[in-house]
Amino acid sequence: MPASNPPDGVAQEEDLVFADEAPAPAHGPADGAAQDKSARAAPDAWRVMVVDDDADVHSTTTFALAGLEVHGRSLQFVHAHSRAQAERLLAHEPELAVILLDVVMEQADAGLHLVRHIRDTLGMHDVRIILRTGQPGYAPEMDAIRGYDINDYRTKSELTRTKLYTSVAAAIRAYQQIRALEDSREALAQVVRANAGLMALHSVDDVAHGILAEASRLLGQHPDGLLCACRRDGPDGPWAVLASAGASAALAPAALLDAGAGPAAAAIARCFATRANTIRDGVLALYLPSKSGVDFAAALPLARPHEPIQPLRRSLLEVFASSIAVSLDNVALMTDLQRAAFYDPLTGLPNRTRLVELLEARLPVDPAAGDGAGADPVLCLVDIDHFAETNDALGHQFGDALLAAVAHRLRARLDARADAGVSLARIGSDVFCVLGPATEVDPHALGALFASPFSIEGQDVRVSATLGLVRLREHEGNGADALKDADIALKRAKTQQRGGHFWFSRSMGVEIRERVRMMHALRSGFTRGELFLNFQPQVDLSRRRAFGAEALLRWRPEDGRLVPPDRFIPIAEYSGLIIEIGEWVLRQACLELMRVRAAGHLDFTMSVNVSQVQFRHPNFLEMVARALADTCAPPECIELEITESMAMEEPGLLIERLAQLKRLGVSIAIDDFGTGFSSLSYLQRLQVDRLKIDRAFVSEITGSARGSSIAEMVIELGRNLGLSIVAEGVEDERQAQILHALGCPLAQGYLFARPLPADQLIEWLDGEALSPAA
Ligand code: C2E
Ligand code: CA
Ligand code: CA
Repeated sequence: MPASNPPDGVAQEEDLVFADEAPAPAHGPADGAAQDKSARAAPDAWRVMVVDDDADVHSTTTFALAGLEVHGRSLQFVHAHSRAQAERLLAHEPELAVILLDVVMEQADAGLHLVRHIRDTLGMHDVRIILRTGQPGYAPEMDAIRGYDINDYRTKSELTRTKLYTSVAAAIRAYQQIRALEDSREALAQVVRANAGLMALHSVDDVAHGILAEASRLLGQHPDGLLCACRRDGPDGPWAVLASAGASAALAPAALLDAGAGPAAAAIARCFATRANTIRDGVLALYLPSKSGVDFAAALPLARPHEPIQPLRRSLLEVFASSIAVSLDNVALMTDLQRAAFYDPLTGLPNRTRLVELLEARLPVDPAAGDGAGADPVLCLVDIDHFAETNDALGHQFGDALLAAVAHRLRARLDARADAGVSLARIGSDVFCVLGPATEVDPHALGALFASPFSIEGQDVRVSATLGLVRLREHEGNGADALKDADIALKRAKTQQRGGHFWFSRSMGVEIRERVRMMHALRSGFTRGELFLNFQPQVDLSRRRAFGAEALLRWRPEDGRLVPPDRFIPIAEYSGLIIEIGEWVLRQACLELMRVRAAGHLDFTMSVNVSQVQFRHPNFLEMVARALADTCAPPECIELEITESMAMEEPGLLIERLAQLKRLGVSIAIDDFGTGFSSLSYLQRLQVDRLKIDRAFVSEITGSARGSSIAEMVIELGRNLGLSIVAEGVEDERQAQILHALGCPLAQGYLFARPLPADQLIEWLDGEALSPAA
């Protein structure tokens, strides 16, 4: 169903209307013509916005998608290079189909802000969004944006030409489906309102003026024009003026008009002669046929004659024109119109609007009402898995038939239980909704409905569905909120297990909100200076002297209580904030190193933790070089710690990155070593300097039956590869002695020092220098 076609039974095909819109006779200035041309190109092309701060991405994207056609329509690109520019452009881009959005731009989370702006502030719910990020594995606050209807999430490297192609094509398909549903619903709702308003009027005079006013409103302009009546057997005029408004208002009602009386009169003449809607000379003429022997025509001078009428307005006007006169004497049609506004034309099921009404009628659920499970209403979303692909591969008609078959099967089961109070709706292109008591709305029973194949066009087609459920008793808020919660559960189910189901729980909402709250608090805390570093000395086990320290990040929010790094660093990573914070950490650590050196400790290294997200950032190398240059820190005294799990992924990238870093002169340690069991041959190819034995294996030395076996292995491995070894988390003297005996030269842990505030590090080093080696 093309986007501009209203559903069956209400309006007819496009070709009978606006028949002679085409070559508008020379209207005016060159700019008018140019505007016309570009505006005319638009309806044939899908508008795709590329938002990215990397100019290359723009050119590669347009190059990759050049020639892509979806449903015979080409793509037209809109380019934005920053969040701010995108926001400006979006204000004038109502018809965007897809946005390809870079997550990290001027701020690490600029893309996520833009998503919120698009959905919440601009209320653009139809446009499909594909998030892209330069860093693989860098999941943005996906949970936080779950409610924002993201179509796809891809890393840029993942988007090869074919993948980009399919991803964008699928998104356009989805957009088209959504628009088709939305357009017809909105259009019909408007016409229903217009018709209902007119029905309420009693005098012919009021109705006539009402028709002019409504037609103008549907056109988006002030009332202006004429409404005339004419007997069908005498279309040549003169015609009776029934109503007039605006510039034509001088014509008294019931005056007689003929074709020579100006452009409006000429339009009326044409309309009656052709019995069609026409646009010419900046006047729109609507033909309003009635059942009686009298037809009507309205002539509306266009307020913006050089702009084509939007497809939506067109279909609105069509429906209006073809139904208005009839509806005046046919009340039954009203019921049909109303039906179309609240029901999905494809399946005949209630649509989203109607479902929200049904939900509202059940909310809030009285928690005291009955103990029986039957009184516990459940909302369940049923999402057809991989529908977009099926639709893509087998065509629209097939997709529609599949949806109808699914609707039929769901209905067959639920109809059998109609007395149990179960309602079924179709609320999105491939999303159905079942509402009813828990005993009836059972995820296993619903899932089982998809066990046997559907027969479509003589083929057996197997599809599965993924379910998201909410218990309304546990829900606070209105019907639309309940749908949103169900959608969160559905998204979760989709990421965990296609074909499975997931129940929304309040903690899910709480968890997401808590994470979002922390993300905001961290961002503002960072700008307010709530972050600081501690430094934990690292010692040489034989001489018991410090040779370096590890910089450890701390966050003390306004309430004064420290938040553990294990809690806030993952959030900083998720949100991309770690890019800025990590740079700041490195610079602070370099500055501290310079202070330590100024205090006379020249043989001192500073270790800095680097998260995976930072490491993969395209500017990482540059960032490190700049921090070193700006702070004058000698690179050979800086050590970067990366985790072993990071070392395991993407060997190619890692090997190259490490080589580049080594060229800068910094050294590299593998943190938490032993937890990931890197292969020996792989380790050999990595240019690392040091392994840090994970705390867990150090505490094992004295605390577990396995004893020192893993620590021993790591030490042996380090020796074979010629790598330095540090044991982490050394808490007691026995551990230190065993490690030393095993040949581990270096250690770090509470036994020697806890992480120290910056002002105590030098003091500690000085004191330690004086104390005799143990
Ligand atoms: P990590 O890199 O393994 O850091 C060592 C952790 O062990 C630190 O915890 C340290 O305080 C703790 N520790 C040191 N000695 C002992 C000991 O004897 N016993 C025990 N039980 N613990 C000891 P912290 O400071 O809470 O940091 C936790 C993790 O947060 C770090 O683990 C690191 O992964 C991350 N982190 C800290 N600062 C940064 C940073 O600036 N950037 C990044 N990306 N991550 C950081
Ligand atoms: Ca570390
Ligand atoms: Ca560690």
